[in-house]
Amino acid sequence: MRKNISTLKLHHNKHTAGCKAAAIAPPEEVLLPLTMHSGSPAEPIVAAGDYVRIGQLIAKAGSGMSSPVHATVSGTVTAIEPFTQADGKSVQIIRIKSDGKMEKDPNLAPPVFDDLDGFLAAMKDSGVVGLGGAAFPLWGKFDAVRRNKVDTVLINGAECEPYITSDHRIMLEEGELLKAGIELLHKYIGARFVICIEDNKQDAIDNLTQVFAGVDYVEIRPLPSIYPQGAKQVLLYNVTGKVVKGGQRMASLGVLITNVSSVTKMAEYMTTGMPLVERIVTVDGTAVREPKNVKAPIGTPISHIIEQAGGLKCEPAKVLIGGPMLGTAVSSLDQPIQKVANAVLAMDKREAVKLEPSVCIRCGRCMANCPVDLNLEGIAAAMEMENEDKKYTELKRLGVGQCIECACCSYVCPAHKPIMHTNNDARRFIKQYEAAHAEEGRK
Ligand code: SF4
Ligand code: SF4
Repeated sequence: MRKNISTLKLHHNKHTAGCKAAAIAPPEEVLLPLTMHSGSPAEPIVAAGDYVRIGQLIAKAGSGMSSPVHATVSGTVTAIEPFTQADGKSVQIIRIKSDGKMEKDPNLAPPVFDDLDGFLAAMKDSGVVGLGGAAFPLWGKFDAVRRNKVDTVLINGAECEPYITSDHRIMLEEGELLKAGIELLHKYIGARFVICIEDNKQDAIDNLTQVFAGVDYVEIRPLPSIYPQGAKQVLLYNVTGKVVKGGQRMASLGVLITNVSSVTKMAEYMTTGMPLVERIVTVDGTAVREPKNVKAPIGTPISHIIEQAGGLKCEPAKVLIGGPMLGTAVSSLDQPIQKVANAVLAMDKREAVKLEPSVCIRCGRCMANCPVDLNLEGIAAAMEMENEDKKYTELKRLGVGQCIECACCSYVCPAHKPIMHTNNDARRFIKQYEAAHAEEGRK
């Protein structure tokens, strides 16, 4: 990994940075996938016909790495059934028809614990996952302190993707909760904490500087507003100078990285007993009538969220969950927002223009802008190989698995080549090749 890890400057388009997050009207229905995290699916403990209230456990964490799911509206469970997600995967969901009352579960209470085991168990019960996009269960991340000496925790408030301002609002509106979360982490995990914020959020830097005044184990670190500053490998290098190699765990370097919203939501559970049931979502894009930030129950259909932002002012050419670089395009507004959904963007024809790819002019810009220094020309050539064994060996040698899917390469390519998608195809090929050979080995 080289020194100038990224210098890509994007148009920020943070139109909603000044919009306080407002609660939305209750949706008629929420759709809660059992796989809103990495790891094994949650396991339902309710059945169709059950009445549930906000915060009630409806699916317990599965085995190993997993996270529970809680009711996000009060109402009746109408079905537990398969559903096709925006990424094409079929998953199980729990549907809850809202009664419009938004009643909280009366049994909610802050968890009681006095050691690391109890703290991590409570973190698991909170249902909080990496809300910056990784969806890795928060308890699983901090469980690494049992096996590694962690001396630094980076609290990621970079929010480097255009349009999205949900972490920005958390840092402005929930500074005290963030402080409560970091105090708990410090008590049970130790370490120093560096809150990393891009310098295009000066008001958040100022607010947190005030909130953490006199707290000697917390540093507020302004960082240049470059993309992908918030990618964990990039943040790690830019803040600590350390480089994580392919396959290496960050905790083995003594560092953990988590998102500001994750720590804040964890603190909400620890102080009130309310698990992760809603989040701030930025609603923006040229097709949206009133771009704003909303507090939406997890599982709310996108159509309802857009309505709460004044609806659409024209037929959108593209709707994304997430930002323009890393988001997932959806073909139906029935898709629900999941735990990691920090934005809903609806773009008109002009904004969503799709440029046709042309011939590579070998300008090298893709490689010059790749934060993990991948040999993209080599990967493209390997993908043309017909011999699958050679193709596999070459892709492994080139380290395609280290791609962090930041899309810088595709963004800068003057030939509009879908380079990141080629890398994704390459990684899929490696997975399938390894699965097929493991299967052969078992026969
Ligand atoms: S998407 Fe992957 S290959 Fe492209 S710039 Fe980012 S890390 Fe490099
Ligand atoms: S940026 Fe595009 S045109 Fe330039 S070398 Fe890379 S793939 Fe080719």
